[in-house]
Amino acid sequence: MSINISRRKSREISVGTVKIGGDAPIAVQSMTNTFTHDVPATVKLIHRLETAGCEIVRVAVPDMQAAEAIRSVKQQIHIPLIADVHFDYRLALAAIEAGADGLRINPGNIGQDNKVKAVADLAREYGLPIRVGVNAGSLPKDLVKEYGVTPEAMVKGALRHVELLHSFDFHDIKISIKASDVLVTLEAYRMLAARTDLPLHVGVTEAGTLYSGTVKSALGIGMLLYEGIGDTLRVSLTRDPVDEVRVGYEILKALKIRQRGPEIISCPTCGRTRINLFKIVDQVESALINSTIPIQIAIMGCVVNGPGEAREADIGIAGGEGQGILFKKGQVIKKIREEDLVKVLLEEVKKVAKDAGF
Ligand code: SF4
Repeated sequence: MSINISRRKSREISVGTVKIGGDAPIAVQSMTNTFTHDVPATVKLIHRLETAGCEIVRVAVPDMQAAEAIRSVKQQIHIPLIADVHFDYRLALAAIEAGADGLRINPGNIGQDNKVKAVADLAREYGLPIRVGVNAGSLPKDLVKEYGVTPEAMVKGALRHVELLHSFDFHDIKISIKASDVLVTLEAYRMLAARTDLPLHVGVTEAGTLYSGTVKSALGIGMLLYEGIGDTLRVSLTRDPVDEVRVGYEILKALKIRQRGPEIISCPTCGRTRINLFKIVDQVESALINSTIPIQIAIMGCVVNGPGEAREADIGIAGGEGQGILFKKGQVIKKIREEDLVKVLLEEVKKVAKDAGF
């Protein structure tokens, strides 16, 4: 059964070579947590992010040293880089001149209109988009006074800044409007999506640890995407940024929006399980963690329900007593000893991938 999600119509912008909005695929982003001025560490992390499938990377620009470092980082990476700037518009100017592909500024703290104009003018000259990134925690004071920290205040804050950029004839804009509260985030994006056709960067900010952050992001980002809202996403976790990218793709995979790499279907195990399924699943997942092959693999504990439950899978195994069976599209192919299951499965994955032209 296929259920189609109808995507909100948005304008298309470009962040370097990556298109955002319109019909472009929903791009997965992350942000480095190295000191940006530590160029070797930043480049090393970005290379790991690239391997995991990250399509746009953001770096913090807290000082001039960080802004200057962008020049060197850019020469060594392969994906567009966005400079994240707060408080000081001169850092935004320096980041643009150092070769950033996009800017993220927070309207709540960038300062007077003439400073914003200077940034908009230089960004236009260099052909860079700007993300207006509103956070519930740093809204302009007058809006908090009038509306409280509410979705309404967040939307008003974002649109006010968009209007300001438009008044400087700057239109290459995307917006994010994040809160750490899933319900507030959802409501804010829904309101915003109804009031603008600019592309939206979606995420739940400061989402938390691997468990809570993944759940909050899957709910917040997932529900928005299901409603057709969102043109690029960032999962925010207190964790290795590479995990943010992996969770981002899992959300897209679960909604059948984008498939990158294998989808592993595995059973929770029960009293019928007679093989070490946890170990087998871990080994298969680790072996394929950076694979881009779009294949569905089922790893099931028993033959009672295994092949049948995973009929849609391209390939799979179902455990027995110290052995397992290999099946393809629900059809049993052969029996394999438990110790050989992972090796055989991975060989079969390679074969299926080769036949499919990978
Ligand atoms: Fe239990 Fe078999 Fe279902 Fe796994 S597939 S949960 S082992 S019945």
